[in-house]
Amino acid sequence: MRTQIGIIGAGPAGMFLALLLQSRGIECVVIEQRNREYVEGRVRAGVLEQSTVELMRHLGIGERVAREGLVHRGTHLAIDGKLFHIDFAALTGGKTVTVYGQQEVMRDLYDAAVQRDIAIVWDAEGVTLSGLEGDLPAIDFRHRDALEHIDCDYVVGCDGFHGVCRKFIPASVLNVFERAYSFGWLGILADVPPANPELIYANHERGFALASMRSNERSRYYIQCPQNEDAAQWPDERFWDELCLRLGPEIGAKVTRGPSFEKSLAPLRSFVSEPMRWGRLFLAGDAAHIVPPTGAKGVNLAVADVRLLSTALEQYYKQGSSRGIDNYSRRALERVWKAERFSWWFTSITHRFPDMDAFARRLQIAELNYIQESRAAQQVLAENYVGLPLEVD
Ligand SMILES: Cc1cc2nc3c(=O)[nH]c(=O)nc-3n(C[C@H](O)[C@H](O)[C@H](O)COP(=O)(O)OP(=O)(O)OC[C@H]3O[C@@H](n4cnc5c(N)ncnc54)[C@H](O)[C@@H]3O)c2cc1C
Repeated sequence: MRTQIGIIGAGPAGMFLALLLQSRGIECVVIEQRNREYVEGRVRAGVLEQSTVELMRHLGIGERVAREGLVHRGTHLAIDGKLFHIDFAALTGGKTVTVYGQQEVMRDLYDAAVQRDIAIVWDAEGVTLSGLEGDLPAIDFRHRDALEHIDCDYVVGCDGFHGVCRKFIPASVLNVFERAYSFGWLGILADVPPANPELIYANHERGFALASMRSNERSRYYIQCPQNEDAAQWPDERFWDELCLRLGPEIGAKVTRGPSFEKSLAPLRSFVSEPMRWGRLFLAGDAAHIVPPTGAKGVNLAVADVRLLSTALEQYYKQGSSRGIDNYSRRALERVWKAERFSWWFTSITHRFPDMDAFARRLQIAELNYIQESRAAQQVLAENYVGLPLEVD
């Protein structure tokens, strides 16, 4: 098989890239180790930046998110149960975010890929890459007991944090920057109406809590807990009790309890690997960087990477210019680091850290009080949360 761009991974980065390339007349094949049901079923991100929603509309997959997505003009922060509001739209010239689950995004992407005849190889095993330093990179893998080989012009690793592509960059070239957190988020999904029409990020002395949702009928709640916590130790009633305590009496009283149908622990991690290009290999999305979910940036960063890369590849194929692909890593990383900074900072002011003494706690509360009182501080939060600008060329 021969194609122009070989994409490893059919998550958000891989599928947005495939649709962007197809819309620009560039051939690609997507190679995914799992099947569609598995990837579509993974419960992950839920907050889309406005630019992500606009891209969906531009790609012709914006109908359902326009109909079913919940547009949020702001969010709430809580300090030990006392709420205050951040008005994104007023602070950013009208920008908003949209609550629409990653599972729904994947469904829209896959439906469009099927309609547009984009080739996706599901259940591909043992992906290896070769020729990345020369002119003829290739992808080898097993599929239904046969060995497959694809020659291409470029390979894009969209295979997430645990993928293989990053490992093909020599250790002498790769720089990894990492911050591990000793806590994670225990999250549940339940078919009960949300406690509040907008998200609530709650800083409580027992730890962080987030009141979120997937729709007006489906709630998504998280509580901070130790990273090695066993979700089985948290029967629903224990979870609801702790959540209500951390959200405080005002919001706690508005929480509708019900049986959870999903309960899992997500670790928190900050991670960047540089560069995002080596020879004929590009990395995009979680393959190159991870953020703690506090800033709701993961999926949006993946989308920003592939917007930049698809424009660069179009310049390469249509204008014969390699300027965009040569600058891809530098430009993507500049923006990635800003999102890393924001996600780290937002985590640091909302979570309880194990080594936190009374002084550190007072500083945290002072910072939240300052945000509450200062329009300038709110604006900094708002413009990062709704998404920093992305110049694609
Ligand atoms: C539990 C959890 C909760 C999250 N919550 C949020 C949130 O609330 N907000 C937010 O913004 N972000 C959140 N994220 C992050 C967000 O989901 C990711 O940033 C986003 O999925 C990144 O997309 P991606 O395409 O880069 O990687 P992925 O979604 O990881 O997709 C990579 C794809 O590559 C495939 N793959 C891996 N290895 C190979 C291989 N060797 N060969 C072929 N295919 C391979 C995988 O099966 C997968 O389908 C969460 C992540 C997790 C894990």
